Amino acid sequence: MFSDFMSVDLTASLYLLSGVFFILAIRGLSSPETARIGNYLGMSGMLIAFTVTILNLEDNSLSNLILIVAGISIGGLIGTFLSKKVAMTDMPQMVAALNSMGGMSAVLVAWAAFLSPAAFGLEINGYIATASMVEMLLGIFVGAITFSGSVIAFLKLQGLMKSAPVILPLRHVISIGIFSIILVCSYLILIGSQYDQVLFLVISILSLALGLLLIIPIGGADMPVVIAVLNSYSGFAAAIIGFTLNNLALVITGALVGSSGAILSYIMCVAMNRSFFSVIMGGFGDEGVGGEQVKETRPVKIGSADDAAFILKNASSVIIVPGYGMAVARAQNSLKEMVDKLKEMGIKVTYAIHPVAGRMPGHMNVLLAEADVPYDDIYELTEINSDFAQADVAFVIGANDVTNPAAKSDPNSPIFGMPILEVENAKTVLFVKRSLGIGYAGIDNDLFYQENTMMLLDDAKKMSEDISASI
Ligand code: NDP
Repeated sequence: MFSDFMSVDLTASLYLLSGVFFILAIRGLSSPETARIGNYLGMSGMLIAFTVTILNLEDNSLSNLILIVAGISIGGLIGTFLSKKVAMTDMPQMVAALNSMGGMSAVLVAWAAFLSPAAFGLEINGYIATASMVEMLLGIFVGAITFSGSVIAFLKLQGLMKSAPVILPLRHVISIGIFSIILVCSYLILIGSQYDQVLFLVISILSLALGLLLIIPIGGADMPVVIAVLNSYSGFAAAIIGFTLNNLALVITGALVGSSGAILSYIMCVAMNRSFFSVIMGGFGDEGVGGEQVKETRPVKIGSADDAAFILKNASSVIIVPGYGMAVARAQNSLKEMVDKLKEMGIKVTYAIHPVAGRMPGHMNVLLAEADVPYDDIYELTEINSDFAQADVAFVIGANDVTNPAAKSDPNSPIFGMPILEVENAKTVLFVKRSLGIGYAGIDNDLFYQENTMMLLDDAKKMSEDISASI
């Protein structure tokens, strides 16, 4: 009925249009100024793709439509509830949970197509075409790895599993062994084994095990990169299943998610000076908790909110460096109030954002946008790093690793080579954090003990409120 109305060309054109909307959405999401419109464009693209898919349904019986609407409503409600409830700092685990569902969907669709190929139009003379079978096998393989890998990533990030790398003896040999068995099983299915269902099940289980083995050796600090990698896998799994379902929109969307996730992983690796290979091999960031006391004996200058207010009031230029601690403390609004007071006094205040400050790319930009900090006051590392030498105060709030000079001076440091914000060049460095503890990479920061550094040891929100009051 509906499907008669939709010609093949019209369907393909509309799917293409939804693809254009998705590309514009990604473009929009690249800046906080256009992110909202980017989101609307993405939603519009999804609405077009969804409507076209419904209009193309072969079986548009009432019961089928009810099932579809019920599925979308329940999923939509859960999604809305979770996205409203999730804290900004918990976003990586939310993405991990969503990736796992993308992976599982690919596995389930591949199984459905395998068990009832006729319903998917994949049966030719009683057989499934080799190309379709390859797609299903790839869908199962990539989807299952994405699912189990994302579940482990979620458990580690949520603190339900220890974030330290779990290094199994002979893990590479075990992984290669599992991969080889998957290849043999796939070959047997493709040459028409009568045990194809058992083999399909074996491949599914082994792919799940492989996902688990790939992610458990990776430490907490590398987990956000892993999330981006898994996000990319989930996109590719969707694209592969798009071929099986003969759905152009799914192929386009999956390819977009797959490639943008891969680019994001690359950008994160470059910003952290980690090779992609070393992230996947694991072992870094096992102490990724922050807040631990180190046994330090060097003298350190500890100041109060009044001391900080005095120094800030007497400055003519201040650069704010926010980090993960600002996100945890939800200090962005009180920070903005403090900055507004300084600006009213004619002091020039700007913000310096490191590409991996916080726990995901753009984390700080989103928080500052939430507090209505003008975009023109926010600078990227490369734009502002040379300005620290002329600044009177570098006000570091809840950041640690992204300022750590060990990245430049200590070849043995795990962050060696990572570009850092050179806050030490400012006349005075004010460090707001709760202790002299480590950052996410688990290493001490020599800046705390420098002559021109004053530590302001308190919760970031409380300290910025106290400084504001004192100003
Ligand atoms: P860090 O994790 O290095 O440091 C954050 C600091 O915030 C901690 O030392 C902690 O010290 C302090 N802190 C925590 N809670 C509070 C609070 N309530 N009030 C005040 N301070 C607080 O953060 P950075 O932003 O400097 O660096 C990000 C790290 O995360 C880098 O190592 C980066 O490589 C890594 N990473 C980032 C990714 C990204 O995409 N952004 C991806 C993957 C990893 P204390 O406990 O003493 O208060």
